[in-house]
Amino acid sequence: MVTGIVYDDIYLQHRIGTHVESHERLIAIMEFLKEKNLLDDKDYLLIKPRKATLDQIKYAHEESLINEVKEVSELAESTGHTQSLDMDTLVSGKTYEAGLYSVGGNLEAIDKIMSGELKNVFALVRPPGHHSNSYKCAGFCIFNNIAIGAEYLFREKGLERVAIIDWDCHHGNGTQDIFYEGSKTGEVTFFSSHQDGRTLYPGSGFINEIGKGKGKGKIINFPMPPGSAEDVIMNFFDEIVDPTLSEFKPEFILISAGFDTHWTDRLTNMGWTYQGPARYLDKIKSIAKKYADNRILITLEGGYEIDKQAKAVYNCLKVLNDDGENLIEEKLRRSDPDLLNYVDNKLIPKLKENLSNYWNCF
Ligand SMILES: [Zn+2]
Repeated sequence: MVTGIVYDDIYLQHRIGTHVESHERLIAIMEFLKEKNLLDDKDYLLIKPRKATLDQIKYAHEESLINEVKEVSELAESTGHTQSLDMDTLVSGKTYEAGLYSVGGNLEAIDKIMSGELKNVFALVRPPGHHSNSYKCAGFCIFNNIAIGAEYLFREKGLERVAIIDWDCHHGNGTQDIFYEGSKTGEVTFFSSHQDGRTLYPGSGFINEIGKGKGKGKIINFPMPPGSAEDVIMNFFDEIVDPTLSEFKPEFILISAGFDTHWTDRLTNMGWTYQGPARYLDKIKSIAKKYADNRILITLEGGYEIDKQAKAVYNCLKVLNDDGENLIEEKLRRSDPDLLNYVDNKLIPKLKENLSNYWNCF
């Protein structure tokens, strides 16, 4: 079956100067996919996004945030100068428009997966979303694409249980905030694995942040020590993600995919290879196969070494289309034994203990 790729040039129009979250990221990915002839392969289909409606943006955001993005975009357009929403979140004249299409790319993808037209989709969208909460844009993010996707599945597709897995190197604090007390319209289990917040923006995502009220136990954070290679995430999957999702039985899996865990990334201090995310995805696919009729949508978040990111995205596309045998691989890196020992014998057991009142598996 066919894997979809969402892309449109509108995503390049969120153009914010020399900022690391640059339009060049998407250009590099698309050029690499062309170079590998992936876009001519009958197993892949390039699909165009649509514009999300304002009512759909409101599934996750307050009207004041939407108005602010619109007004600041208009100011950038009229002055011809980039404007800012906070210290590191910049806006161009086309950011508002690109944001609507970024959310709409996810919604179009969900439609095509739910109808059975596509097996799964990778949405190559900008601006990213996982640091934006209901009322504030932050961390290079505008609208929270993944959170709106989850609400869309509940409100317009009638699903009841959705898992969100965020493997960006930064804590998905915006998504966490939005679902901290659960969703009014469905059940969300949110996993964020990220570099320990004591050493990286946004400084949150610790194992005692487990949700509140209806959402209690359904926010699951995995703060990885700096230097962690992808062996750490495989253990997190086996010990935490697999048992909880086997109990939760998600009907759809949404992935916030950042590629800034790569060992060369300029913003972070991790040890993943460019095949690491694809290997993690391969494990996640087993859950989607068992419970979710294979339904997976991946949405692009961060990743700042654009050549490495392009390879990592290509690898994920291969895994999505059941071709995980043919990845582009670099030499596997391993975490320091002391670091692995801490993760396996301290961090994971403590996380299980914190979650034990909410999951039968622990
Ligand atoms: Zn990131």
